[in-house]
Amino acid sequence: MDMLLNRLKELTNNKYFQCIQCGTCGGSCPYGAYTPYTPRRMILAIRLGMVEDILNSNAQWLCTACQTCTSRCPSRIQITDGIIPALREKSLLEGKVPEELSTALINIMRYGNPFKESPMKRDGWAKELDFEVPTMMKKKSAEVLLLPECFGAYHRRCKQATKALAKVMKILEVDFAILGREERCTGDHVRLCGEFALFEDLMEKNMKVFRKYEFKYIVTHDAHAFNALKNFYGLNVLHHSQFLHDNLEKLKGMFNELDYTVTYHDSCYLGRKNGIYEEPREVIRSIPGVRFVEFKRNRENALCCGAGGGGIWLDSVMREFVKVRPAEDRVREAKEVGADVIVTGCVLDIPMFEDALKVTGLDGEIVVKDIAELVLEALEGG
Ligand code: SF4
Ligand code: SF4
Repeated sequence: MDMLLNRLKELTNNKYFQCIQCGTCGGSCPYGAYTPYTPRRMILAIRLGMVEDILNSNAQWLCTACQTCTSRCPSRIQITDGIIPALREKSLLEGKVPEELSTALINIMRYGNPFKESPMKRDGWAKELDFEVPTMMKKKSAEVLLLPECFGAYHRRCKQATKALAKVMKILEVDFAILGREERCTGDHVRLCGEFALFEDLMEKNMKVFRKYEFKYIVTHDAHAFNALKNFYGLNVLHHSQFLHDNLEKLKGMFNELDYTVTYHDSCYLGRKNGIYEEPREVIRSIPGVRFVEFKRNRENALCCGAGGGGIWLDSVMREFVKVRPAEDRVREAKEVGADVIVTGCVLDIPMFEDALKVTGLDGEIVVKDIAELVLEALEGG
């Protein structure tokens, strides 16, 4: 219990004691209706010494780290980066971990990725391109270090978005390179899951690799990697929507017309966590022929895709408790506003929404595209 309290104090800057039990957090949470312990109830239960009741209920895993509660808490308590990971750490130490999450964490520790894939295959996506993407090992320095992160490097669908981004960079004649087999998980989900020792270890190993090479900045299309690199590693990093925005004048001159009604999903770790709302919208709106419509819940009120904070590895817990997953609600919202394309800013959104489209029967009516995929399509003429 002492260790938990110390961790709570450390991660919330001692603000954990300032909860006024207003209930804003539970009312804002996409899982508020399903969980036995909303953040408000968690704090109350901790105060009453009922921590084991929370852990046994599995409520600590019913959170996809969407940051909504934290952004709305009147006492400014770090719920997402503090209370939840502290409880998860205790749960991990007691061996109370959902199996698929445990497997993902072990794989990240052993292989540097959650898929149990060989690090040697990390640049497999680049070998599928018809041009060479150089590695830093070979090139030593480049203006841009392109970092696909684990999903963007290995996941069958996500790596299409990585290839699109690399193609856009090639068209823009950007001097870029990748780490290839030297790259490993940056660990944002690991941290949010309460595996702090593994996060520190990943950060140390990654920093050793980053320090070996010269680059001006990193570009990534993974919003969690962006968050970790910016706020924990302290590196110069651009989300790819910012990179595209920085090159917008050049891109505009090359865009062809598309014929889509597009809505844009604000990823939690771009929007609520890092305040990036306008750049992706400006890029999308600048493509001729694109009709832009907003989700009813947009910007700081956007609904989570359900993948964050290890949510993508918590399917068994979600299935047990949750009747309608947030991604399913989200694709129905896209249908309501008349979109035929959902444009995403984080690679993890893509499999979440594509799965939700199948579950809701909207597959075929709506498609999901990463913003780099949309831009590439406009460059290549539709
Ligand atoms: S929103 Fe903040 S102050 Fe209100 S109950 Fe939740 S944690 Fe406590
Ligand atoms: S971060 Fe999101 S999912 Fe987690 S408790 Fe807060 S509102 Fe709920």
